[in-house]
Amino acid sequence: MTSLADLPLREDLRGRQPYGAPQRPARVALNVNENTHGVPEDVAEDIVAALREAVTTLHRYPDREFTALRESLARYLGHGVQVEQVWAGNGSNEVIQHVLQAFGGPARSVLGFPPTYSMHSILAGSTGTRWVEGERDEGFEISPETVVREIERTRPDLVFLCGPNNPTGTGLGLDTIRAAYEATDGIVFVDAAYAEFMPTDHENALTLLPGRERLIVSRTMSKAFAFAGARVGYMAADPAVVDALRLVRLPYHLSSLTQAAAIAALAHTGEMLARVDEIKEQRDRIERELPELGFSPWPSEANFVLFGGVADPARTWSELLERDVLVRNLSIPHTLRVSAGTEAETSEFLSALAEVGGAAA
Ligand code: PMP
Repeated sequence: MTSLADLPLREDLRGRQPYGAPQRPARVALNVNENTHGVPEDVAEDIVAALREAVTTLHRYPDREFTALRESLARYLGHGVQVEQVWAGNGSNEVIQHVLQAFGGPARSVLGFPPTYSMHSILAGSTGTRWVEGERDEGFEISPETVVREIERTRPDLVFLCGPNNPTGTGLGLDTIRAAYEATDGIVFVDAAYAEFMPTDHENALTLLPGRERLIVSRTMSKAFAFAGARVGYMAADPAVVDALRLVRLPYHLSSLTQAAAIAALAHTGEMLARVDEIKEQRDRIERELPELGFSPWPSEANFVLFGGVADPARTWSELLERDVLVRNLSIPHTLRVSAGTEAETSEFLSALAEVGGAAA
C-alpha cells in the first residue's frame, strides 16, 4: 500500500488534513449548515426546464463570463452592485481559492480569526499562503480596536473576516470592517455566507463597497437558497478585483448546467428566501431552549448555533447519532454545533438531546 509519505508531495502539504466534516447518513442531518427545507417543487420544475434547454448545447463550452448569471446575482444583491463587480465560482470555496490565488501565494500571508470557517486556513495552505491567526475578544467578537491591533501586529497581505462567523454564529460589525480596511493596504475579504440570516436591521457589508477597491464581500447560494448541491458561490468587489480573479480561474469554470440552474433559482428569490425566516425562528428557539437543558448557546446571526457546557462532546455527538441526529463536533472544548432545521427536525434534535443529556455539571 502506498501512503502519502511515499509520494513526492509538496513539502508544505505534508502533515496537512483535508476538509473533514463527516458525511454520515442520518435522518436528521444538522451538521453542515445546509438549508434542510429543500428546493420547492415549482422551483425544481423551472430548474429542470432550464437544464433541459442547457443540455441541448452541452457540445459547446459555456459562457466563460457567465454574464446572465452575474446579471441575476447583481440584481439579487442590490445595493447598487453592478454586473462587472460580480464574480462566482463552484461554491464560495472556489471564490475564496481564486482570491488567495490572485492576492496570496508564496511569500504572502493571510490573517484570520479562529475559530472560523476551516476552509480559510486549508485554502491558504493549498495556495502556499501563510496563515496567521488573530485573537478574538470575549464572546468571539472582533472589535475595531482588536482588528487594528492584530493587523498591526501581523502585517498581513490579506485579512479574512467571517460575518456571521462559522462556527460561532457571531455577527461582524461594519465598524470592524471599516477599521480593518483603514489599517491595511491589503485585501479585506468578508465571508458573508450567512448574510441572509442576520437580523434585518443590521447593515449589509455590501454598503461599504463604494470607494473601497480592496474590499471583497462573498456570499453563497448554498445556505439561504438551499442550493448546496449545485455549488454556486459569488462575491462583489471593485471590477479591477474581478479582473484579477480572471487571471487565475480555470476557463469555463462554471458549467452551462450550473449557470442555467442558478439563473432559474434566482428567478424565484422570494419563494427561495421565504424559508429563511422560518429557519431563523428555529435558530432562536434552539438558543432559547438549550439553557433549559443545561447548555450555553452563543448568540447566533446565522442558521446554526454553537453551544457550550457539553461535558464530553464526542460522546454526546455519538449518542445523538445513535438517535439518527447528526450534529458537528469541531473540537472546540465542551462545544457542539447544530444547524437550525425545519421545525420538526429541530424538535427531534431538542428531544434527542434532552434524552441524551450530557451537560457539564
Ligand atoms: N463560508 C462559510 C463561512 C461557510 O460556512 C461555508 C460552508 N459551510 C462556505 C463559505 C462555503 O460554502 P459554499 O462553498 O457551499 O458556498
